[in-house]
Amino acid sequence: MLTYVGKGYSQAFIDNYDRVIARLAAGEEIIIGQGPDEICQPLLETADPHCHNDSVVERDAQALHDVGKLLGQSLQFGDRIKISLPTLEHLRHAFVGGMTRSACAGCEWFDLCTAVSTGGYNGAKLYIVE
Ligand code: SF4
Repeated sequence: MLTYVGKGYSQAFIDNYDRVIARLAAGEEIIIGQGPDEICQPLLETADPHCHNDSVVERDAQALHDVGKLLGQSLQFGDRIKISLPTLEHLRHAFVGGMTRSACAGCEWFDLCTAVSTGGYNGAKLYIVE
């Protein structure tokens, strides 16, 4: 989400992600779901999606742990997070510093996410205006 620049698995995936990001930018809360979420939805409609793979479940758990630790709370599935501008800046700073990237090892998008974050999040679609 922090490094989403309009790239993804398919045009349907990108179009859907654009809509989700626009809702977050407008102030909608994130509900932390277990398993595939709204962002994944277009992939679930394809043959053999990877969304239920053990590696994905493991990545989700690692990311949940990292972000909870950063925000100083034990995040659980079903919790809600509102992305304010200070929270976004905090998350961005931690991500580029590697504090919330344990889930990224081996991810096919690793180089892109690294380039976006180290490039000052230039082109990132999630921004908050307060
Ligand atoms: S490298 Fe992969 S797991 Fe890490 S933020 Fe990017 S897409 Fe998510």
